[in-house]
Amino acid sequence: MKDRNLRPATRAAQALGWECPETGAVVPPIHVSTTFARDVDYELPTGADYARDKNPSFNQPEAVIADLEGGADALLFASGMAACVAPFQALRQGDHVVAPDIMYYGLPKWLRGFGMDRGLSVDFVSTADMDALAAAVRPDETKLVWVESPCNPVWRVTDLAKAAEIAHGAGAQLAVDSTAATPVLTRPFEHGADIVVHAATKYLNGHSDVMAGAVVAKSQDAYWERIAEHRALTGPILGSFEAFLLTRGMRTLFLRVKAASQSALAIAECFEEHPALTQVQYPGLLDHPDHEVAQRQMEGGFGGMLSFRVKGDADTARRVAASCNLFKPATSLGGVESLIEHRGTVEGPDSLTPKDLLRLSVGIEDTGDLIADLEQALTAA
Ligand SMILES: *Cc1c(COP(=O)(O)O)cnc(C)c1O
Repeated sequence: MKDRNLRPATRAAQALGWECPETGAVVPPIHVSTTFARDVDYELPTGADYARDKNPSFNQPEAVIADLEGGADALLFASGMAACVAPFQALRQGDHVVAPDIMYYGLPKWLRGFGMDRGLSVDFVSTADMDALAAAVRPDETKLVWVESPCNPVWRVTDLAKAAEIAHGAGAQLAVDSTAATPVLTRPFEHGADIVVHAATKYLNGHSDVMAGAVVAKSQDAYWERIAEHRALTGPILGSFEAFLLTRGMRTLFLRVKAASQSALAIAECFEEHPALTQVQYPGLLDHPDHEVAQRQMEGGFGGMLSFRVKGDADTARRVAASCNLFKPATSLGGVESLIEHRGTVEGPDSLTPKDLLRLSVGIEDTGDLIADLEQALTAA
């Protein structure tokens, strides 16, 4: 899209206004070829030679993601986890990183089981606590500070500008897992981040039918080249059809995220004082510990994710999830259909998540229907 003044919602809806120069098609073809022939001068027509790395079907979704985040470049990965570990794979033995004590459970599991095994030095701190973060970084030794905002499954919001200042002060880069915020609500580069990561499986695709991840860079520095080289050499990529579906999903990203945020806020406010609950965790609520930061940093809503702490134990929580008719008792998030999940069951015995916590991913169904479903489930359980 030539007009840089067009708003992000417009740019997303038109997937940057792409048209096929040969046919006028407004949706690009799905390239299935794994290899690309050279021309008479032995040059590559588009620069793509082999699809482990340079698949023409990635061009459009990667351009859309980079554009929406305001980054210099984006790379697609086979899953959110493949995208999450790529910035760590690109580090070197002995490099120090700081990561949150509460985040999407797969990443600390990988860091402990594989990252530290391969010589990364990792400190886990509460990244909603900026003093703890400042104390954890080591000047010239820390290479990466990782945060997730709002973070799974308690939806604490990290002050990204402060985290960036602390990371940069130590000579480290700031990476933000912005899956729950989406570029609709927060653009971390505007707050000083260097790397943005998405589990594109979730909101970016939005229809629970594609596994994908994305890493976005603010600038194409040497670290970014190393992340790109990691992908080129190991090929943790999605298929061409999934790349097409992802673009198709992103065209409705703004509508979906706004609808989900509105319903999530309505649900949080409706159940805040509910007698069957001890707490509702949602950054849009006035008594959320990071409400002020969220108001500054999130634009147009607080997202579609919230958690309930039920009065009772793990069994009570599981009964509530099982009693829902509309909310599906399934893992994942960010789809058009609402999901409810007992995280303790999924995360296993080592989980630090409170046993009475239910995570809700609010979809785009009618808000009144969703509220009625939760009300009957809480009553039934
Ligand atoms: C789901 C999720 C991931 C992992 O993504 P997958 O596509 O399931 O591998 C990483 N971070 C966050 C915040 C997530 O919600």
